[in-house]
Amino acid sequence: MPDQYEVLRKVFGYTDFRGDQEQIIRQVVDGGDAVVLMPTGGGKSLCYQVPALVREGCAIVVSPLIALMADQVGALRQLGVSAAYLNSTQLPEERAEVERAFLSGQLDLLYVAPERLSQPATRQLLGRGTIALIAIDEAHCVSQWGHDFRPDYLALGELAELWPQVPRIALTATATERTHTEITERLHLENARHFVASFDRPNISYRIEPKDRVQQQLLEFIRAEGFAGDTALTGIVYALSRNSVEKIAQFLCANGIDAMPYHAGLDAQVRERTLRRFLREDGVVVVATIAFGMGIDKPDVRFVAHVDLPKSVEGYYQETGRAGRDGLPSVAWMAYGLADVVQQRRLIDMSDGDQAHRMAQGRLLDAMLALCETATCRRVQLLRYFGQEIEPCGNCDTCLNPPATWDGTVASQKVLSTVWRLDREWNGQRYGAGHLIDILLGRSNQRIEQFGHDRLSTYGIGTELDANAWKGVIRQLIAQGLLAPHGDYGVLTLTEASAAVLGGRQTVILREEAKRVRSRSSSGAKRTATELSGEDGALFEALRRWRAAVAKEADAPAYTVFANKTLEALAQVRPGSLDELLTVSGIGQAKADKYGEAVLAVIADFDAA
Ligand code: ADP
Ligand code: ZN
Repeated sequence: MPDQYEVLRKVFGYTDFRGDQEQIIRQVVDGGDAVVLMPTGGGKSLCYQVPALVREGCAIVVSPLIALMADQVGALRQLGVSAAYLNSTQLPEERAEVERAFLSGQLDLLYVAPERLSQPATRQLLGRGTIALIAIDEAHCVSQWGHDFRPDYLALGELAELWPQVPRIALTATATERTHTEITERLHLENARHFVASFDRPNISYRIEPKDRVQQQLLEFIRAEGFAGDTALTGIVYALSRNSVEKIAQFLCANGIDAMPYHAGLDAQVRERTLRRFLREDGVVVVATIAFGMGIDKPDVRFVAHVDLPKSVEGYYQETGRAGRDGLPSVAWMAYGLADVVQQRRLIDMSDGDQAHRMAQGRLLDAMLALCETATCRRVQLLRYFGQEIEPCGNCDTCLNPPATWDGTVASQKVLSTVWRLDREWNGQRYGAGHLIDILLGRSNQRIEQFGHDRLSTYGIGTELDANAWKGVIRQLIAQGLLAPHGDYGVLTLTEASAAVLGGRQTVILREEAKRVRSRSSSGAKRTATELSGEDGALFEALRRWRAAVAKEADAPAYTVFANKTLEALAQVRPGSLDELLTVSGIGQAKADKYGEAVLAVIADFDAA
């Protein structure tokens, strides 16, 4: 059996382990259990793939991502690794073939869907072979409070008893303390070693702006950030409803962007085609509900945009984490407004589940709002949510353009006392933001006249701000817990904390509505697929064209041929022989055998030209 260093070098073509990889791999190779919390792009796969090749037998990899198994296995085969998968998409003959290969000891990795593993037949099969280790990917799916809960994951706890001598490793990119505990308990990983990496993703620039005309804002954002020269860049746009997914995709298409909708209401075949195009082509923008994305390891997604407020910071961080897995500069952009807050609150109020569940959901939303309204570094806020402290990042909107704050105590009192008067003086009447703003601005309309709200003492006392600014004030009052929206119509009521503001015992500091960050002007350089320039950049592009042709021919995603990082290294090193080629990061023996000559030819042609 080769050791882990040899496998890293020869199979994966890398010279050094990253972060905790070395310790994690040693733990598993030595037969121990591990719980691994590492951000997207951190290098989790290697943590079980290397031990799979070092330990005797076949590694079982549990993954909920059936649609991606073929690509995952394909990528391993490209590396010369003997891998296969078992899931419901296969024909019985194909499954039988995989089972034969497993039993005869030919496989190093076997990917299995979680629902298969609870079937007695699958367990019997696995029991007849030699299991090197069990890897449980996307382990946060076991968390019932989380956003990706899969009931089938609960049964995975039984594996501990079934094969007590087999080392198990659970991996996730979700970092909250609660999820961590749930994974450990439910998967019976009491004896595991725990590895928690830093969750910072320094190459992602975070930006959150107030929603105004969101489609237009999105288009402006993509036009500024989503192009390298004439080529559109790959991106994901998240929206809450199927309807808005469809509309936004249409809008982007009408504006010359290659956008496709993706949501659970679409035909399975359509979804698969969209996923394939997204994975295989450059420059496709997918507009999706959160049904899209888990486990998609396309490394060169350049932006993730949210046009609706996510339900929680965890969800937001997972979704934005799909940008920039290759470590190159990427953007996470979001627009949100008062209506989002009201809508999310309504969804919680109307959700099934008991009061405790709704309270828990409410707290998740509150944390998300606090992130949106913070006047300090977004990244500091984000990581603090995951229990990690860092310095202000210099790569988010609030760091780049620190928002001005103002003493909004008087403005807040005007809003709160209007709410108070309607409730106390006018027989418990409750209204949403729109009506409150009409009153503050002294507007006249049917409702105001009908109810005589022009006789309220706060009628017309807020003309120093315009309607939009009042919306911002109300949004921030909600985020600060000084107003609470309810139910279907988003009616607003006071909270316990409001009294101190009304009584003049507490000041309220508000952030000035952020001016929209013009991406180019703030971040400077134009975004490109590579940071290389000049001759190296040109060779990179030549290699990229070669890669696109090869990937198309093999019907495989381009990054499974070579990653962008590897192309960059090739463009800089310009190897002249197969031996030199093997020194390039990301090129192991199998890739050198398969593509070595062709790559050397591309480089030689380029140098000769
Ligand atoms: P995760 O599953 O944690 O999101 P991946 O396993 O997909 O991350 O790894 C992200 C990228 O980093 C991949 O392209 C992978 O090949 C690369 N990578 C992982 N480990 C190393 C390493 N030790 N040296 C160089 N590149 C690595
Ligand atoms: Zn910052």
